[in-house]
Amino acid sequence: MLKTIAGMKDILPSEISQWHYVEKICMEVFKNFNYKEIRTPILEMTALFKRGVGETTDIVEKEMYTFEDRDKTSLSLRPEGTAPVVRAYIQNKLFNDQPVTKLYYMGEMYRHERPQKGRYRAFHQIGAEYFGATSPLADAEIISLISEILNRLDIKSYVFYINTIGCQECRPKYKEALKNYFSNHFDNLCEHCQKRLDTNPLRVLDCKNSKCKEIAESSPIIIDYVCDTCKTHHEELIKLVDFIKIPYKIDYRIVRGLDYYVRTTFEVKEEGGILGAQNTILGGGRYNGLVSQLDGPETEAIGFAIGVERLLYLLENISNSEYIDYVVIPLGKEQIDMAFKIATSLRIKGFSVDIDPRSGSLKSQMRWANKLGAKSVILIGENELKNSSYIEKNMETSEQKVCSINDVLN
Ligand SMILES: [Zn+2]
Ligand SMILES: [Zn+2]
Repeated sequence: MLKTIAGMKDILPSEISQWHYVEKICMEVFKNFNYKEIRTPILEMTALFKRGVGETTDIVEKEMYTFEDRDKTSLSLRPEGTAPVVRAYIQNKLFNDQPVTKLYYMGEMYRHERPQKGRYRAFHQIGAEYFGATSPLADAEIISLISEILNRLDIKSYVFYINTIGCQECRPKYKEALKNYFSNHFDNLCEHCQKRLDTNPLRVLDCKNSKCKEIAESSPIIIDYVCDTCKTHHEELIKLVDFIKIPYKIDYRIVRGLDYYVRTTFEVKEEGGILGAQNTILGGGRYNGLVSQLDGPETEAIGFAIGVERLLYLLENISNSEYIDYVVIPLGKEQIDMAFKIATSLRIKGFSVDIDPRSGSLKSQMRWANKLGAKSVILIGENELKNSSYIEKNMETSEQKVCSINDVLN
């Protein structure tokens, strides 16, 4: 028997209503904030991710599904959503939509990660990118939008962790200070951090190793090193965030992995204990250089992405509210024609309707109607057909009434 590829799974009809629910709420919130959806292909040139995510990142080095096209071009399944959206923004000259471009996406991403619980190699992200705004208003809007999504999904106990990581001007000074500090603790750092201390000391700050964590707790903090522009940006953002009254903490250790981030970075964590130690729900931040790096005009942007599978895990208690308006039950073969006519007429009027194609016993048809969550069933027997009528039974109250077939067909 053929099966899905390891680490990939089907989303079954019994789960789909939760997906629709999350997608619907996100789409409503995006609309409230005037974001437009963009859909990009799942397959892109490998070069896009090498340049847009970074050749030395784990994602590009180890996790992409990469293969050759028939003409030998190297292609990759998208491992994340930002690089394709930036590519589309440049290729379609969306930057001409002045002054800003606000885009969101929902879709499947692919990473060949080591299989572990709750991690899939084909997973879904919902994210947004806000291009062309340097003002902290854009950062505050993104944060407000995310909190609105979480609120409407009724996710409790979430906390934003907000930081600034400076810019190309001021960050080198901070990196230098970090390097000095960590060098004094070199022997106690994990092997990985020892290696990256020279190239990217910021990454030591988000190492999960407990010793590294402990050392990082007393390290220099970024806010003491940022330039005036970055400092003002951060302060203005916090003022705006105070206004929307969301739970947040300033955390100078939220650095995010990638070099193109500037100023604002943030993460949202679930602190009600549902997710355990790995409790980050989503992350995002402001970036520049990415658009120009991919041959577009110099543009600052801010974005975020949520892992949908993780989000659904937080919603597991949402009841499956599947239902159908009518199940039409022909009591014999002679009534099938009429059942089809009535069902068609109700469907055209906008009701959800199904017919049991087996025309089996009444008992088994009623059982099936129950399983579908039918609000009402329509029974058509020999006598009813003779009188041009049918019986409508309300499944909740068990009330029955006789209705005229002509009424429903017109
Ligand atoms: Zn700066
Ligand atoms: Zn470490």
